[in-house]
Amino acid sequence: MEKKDEEIEDLTPTPWLYWCVCGIVGLLCLGLLVFLHDVYANAGHKQTLSKEVSILMPAKERDAIIEKKEQDVSAQPAVKTGEKIPLMAIVIDDMGINQKRTKEILSLQAPLTSSFLTYGKNLKELCMEAQNAGHEIIIHVPMEPEGQASLAPDTLSVSMTDEEIVAGLKQMLQKFEGVNVKGVNNHMGSLFTMSAPKMDVVMNVLKSNNMFFLDSKTTPYSVAGQLAEKNGVRYLKRDVFLDNQNDYAYISKQLKEAEKIAQLQGYSIAIGHPKSQTFRVLKEWLETLKNKKIRLVHLSKLALHKDSKE
Ligand SMILES: [Zn+2]
Repeated sequence: MEKKDEEIEDLTPTPWLYWCVCGIVGLLCLGLLVFLHDVYANAGHKQTLSKEVSILMPAKERDAIIEKKEQDVSAQPAVKTGEKIPLMAIVIDDMGINQKRTKEILSLQAPLTSSFLTYGKNLKELCMEAQNAGHEIIIHVPMEPEGQASLAPDTLSVSMTDEEIVAGLKQMLQKFEGVNVKGVNNHMGSLFTMSAPKMDVVMNVLKSNNMFFLDSKTTPYSVAGQLAEKNGVRYLKRDVFLDNQNDYAYISKQLKEAEKIAQLQGYSIAIGHPKSQTFRVLKEWLETLKNKKIRLVHLSKLALHKDSKE
């Protein structure tokens, strides 16, 4: 009997040990499965991101995806409902000319606004890249500056007839066919934007295309605002030029200025260019955004913001 008891005692721990080992192995397998599933899902997500925003997609669908991306940007401060947070839009002009610098800007995954020059290279491809990076796209329309003998391609000049302006503008818009373009701003244009009759023609075309106008304000005498109002076109104007000097300290100071204006008037619009130091400053600045009480938005958001205020 004693021997039998001993045998029974010896055998009892075995099922316990067995079930423990099984349990641990089971848990490890489950953990591995969850991990593999996450890795796989993320890989799939990355793949679909570049595919999901297509320039051939219907505008509504594309808008929804881009809007979602704007909200996804983790570099943004958390906003509580009802909280008024200063808004800021950063527009990068002259996109599509210097391919290397353009690509640098397009590597910034943020709700920036890319303004593509009408005579840039690989426009549609770059626009698609910009949309995938979460940028909004506007068209940078060349307009005649004061005192310049040779004009850039596509430039709208004050010597053109109304018909020539309409035809020129339509041709420029056609280069962006299929791209979700929300508005236009002027490249140069210190002479052209002073001309009321010529700006009237431009605003008329923008109105029929449901586009807003951002005045780059290359002259304090621009009449774009009055003519936009006359034609019922949403109008915005630049507050700060970021990079008149391609200098790190200068650009940082200008960005601070744009932040200050946003805090004072509720929003601000800064214009920069695809320059080496602009890229460097912006890249670092975007990282600091989550700790700031400022929200970076697409330019069209400010057009709506202003509309709702007025
Ligand atoms: Zn320009």
